[in-house]
Formats: sequence, structure tokens, C-alpha cells
Amino acid sequence: MNENLEFNEFHWLLAVVQSIDVGVVVLDRDYRVQVWNTFMENRSGLQPHEVHKQSLFSLFPEIEENWFRHKVEGVVTLGTPAFTIWEQRPYLVKFKNYQPITGQEEYMFQNTTILPLQATNTNIEHICLIIYDVTSVAINKQQLQATNLQLQQLSRTDRLTGLNNRGYWEECLQHEYARHRRYQSMAALVMFDIDHFKKVNDTYGHPAGDKVIQAVAAVVREQVRDTDIAGRYGGEEFVVLLPDVDSSGAMLFAERLRLRIESLLVSYEGQTIPFTISLGVADLSHPVQDYPQLIEHADQALYASKQGGRNQVNCYGG
Ligand code: GH3
Ligand code: MG
Ligand code: MG
Repeated sequence: MNENLEFNEFHWLLAVVQSIDVGVVVLDRDYRVQVWNTFMENRSGLQPHEVHKQSLFSLFPEIEENWFRHKVEGVVTLGTPAFTIWEQRPYLVKFKNYQPITGQEEYMFQNTTILPLQATNTNIEHICLIIYDVTSVAINKQQLQATNLQLQQLSRTDRLTGLNNRGYWEECLQHEYARHRRYQSMAALVMFDIDHFKKVNDTYGHPAGDKVIQAVAAVVREQVRDTDIAGRYGGEEFVVLLPDVDSSGAMLFAERLRLRIESLLVSYEGQTIPFTISLGVADLSHPVQDYPQLIEHADQALYASKQGGRNQVNCYGG
């Protein structure tokens, strides 16, 4: 009677293991397949008799053998389960992804649990792999991350020029200023404004003015180094933060920018628009209370350039 019940239970368990929607594989200590449920059969196209007593590594050459053996040895030695998740390894075994909604992904993303199976003599002679299809979770998360990244980029970028917008640029300056406070590193700021820009708009029209602003941004992008941080600070006002550069280096950069813009030919509807910029330079060799004060210094130098007749560079404090 009791034996019959046990036999029934065993039978039921087998039916459950066969029908659940996760992969179940039992391996012996030589990594040979002992149990292979319907999920595994359907996804691999291999029937239980084809895989029985076959080595897992020869069935799935994509499994990194050293890594997997190491993982399993840990499970056997400690007698506790181990896990692998798709974020670390997209899959244990390479199955095609057939899910209609997530059809754009070629392979099934998987989480896997490795369970120690104790024999009646308490030795661990087998291990069980439970393989979960987490493709839809993985794809949702990846899409969410990609969208967040896009949103972040949009929220940091000025639409007209593609440069950093004022908000994000100030964040970067704040960062650089904090670094300076910690390590006494140097940094310089170049601020510039297009000369008589109202006249450009009045003479050639607002769209022509936009094109001039875009042309200036293109020159800035071409002149800066990877580590420099350029931004559109206002309508036709720009800023470039030069980390680890002092005012003399920044003056050279600013003068190069001025000359480049002076010789720039922007044409709009057959007309060529000449224009210049005025620039101000400041660096951290003059003590400042906070980062807005550095902007203030550069702005004062820019004002001096406007006062001095425009199309020139001035440095704060001489
Ligand atoms: P100054 O040499 O003293 O700088 O003279 P300015 O004419 O450039 O004077 P100001 O800087 O005050 O003028 C800025 C003008 O830029 C006013 C505004 O209409 C125009 N402007 C601001 N943003 C944009 C923009 O996105 N596109 C266009 N086309 N014009 C803009
Ligand atoms: Mg101006
Ligand atoms: Mg202005």
C-alpha cells in the first residue's frame, strides 16, 4: 500500500517535471545527461534517447567548460545551489528564440539554477540544471535601458546645435570644479558670443541666424579635444570647459577659434554671411568661491572683448 503510494508520487512527479515550462536536466558527475524533460526536448530538437548518457559539453559546445565545471564543483563541495543570470551570461545553452513578441532576438535568454542532488547515501552524485526562459524579461529590460539612455541624451542636448545644453553643461562644470577642489587640478573656461547677431537676424532672417549658430557649433566640435566639454549657454552664447588646461592654453584655443570663425563662410539662400565672435577666458588660478564665479570671470573677460571692439579674446585678470 505504502509502496504503491510512493510509486504513484514518483509517477506524478515525473509528469510534473515533464510538463513544466522550464528546462530540467539531470547530470551525473561526468556531466552525462540522465534526465531530459520535454522543454529541453522541444527547444533543442533532441529526444531523450539521443542525449541519454551523452556529455553535456559535446551536446552544447557553446558551454564554457572550465567555467561550468568550476561552478558545479562548488555546488557539489558546498552542497548548495548556484545560479547564473542572463545579465552575466545571456544563456547557458544556445536555443533559438521562438517567442513571437520578442521575435527580434535570435537566442533565448536564460537564468539557470544548478542544484545538488543528494543520493540516499547522502553523497552528491548528480546535479540538476533548471533552465528558465527569461527572454521577454531581458528584452524589456534592454529596451527600457536603451530608451532611458536616449532620453538622457535628449535631456542633455541642445536641439539646434547638438552640443550640451546649458543645464547639463553646468552639471559637468560642477563636477570638474569639485575635482579641482579635491585634487587642485587646473581647468579653464572659454565663453564667447556672436558679435552683432541681432543684425544677422535682421538682415538675413531668423533661419539664416539659426544656420550661423549651427555653423559655429560645428567649428567648436571640430576644435575641441575629447576631454573638453562644450555647450550652448544661451541664444548665441557658447562655453567650452577645458579640464587640466590653464588660461594660457585656453587663450591659444580661443584665438584659434576666433580666427577660424572669422574666416568662416556661411551661406544662406545664395548670400554669404560674414560674422565674428568675442571671447572671454578664465581659469582656476584666480581663487573662486564656487563654480558660478568662474563663469562670472569668463563673462567679465567676454564683456571686456565686446568693450574693446569685438572679434577678440580677453583673459580675466589680465
Ligand atoms: P553683441 O555683439 O553685443 O553680442 O550684439 P548682439 O546683437 O549679438 O546682441 P545680443 O547678444 O544681445 O543679441 C542676441 C540675439 O540673438 C537676440 C536674439 O534674437 C538672437 N537669438 C537668440 N537665440 C537665437 C536663436 O536660437 N536663433 C536665432 N536666429 N537668433 C537667436
Ligand atoms: Mg551677441
Ligand atoms: Mg548674446
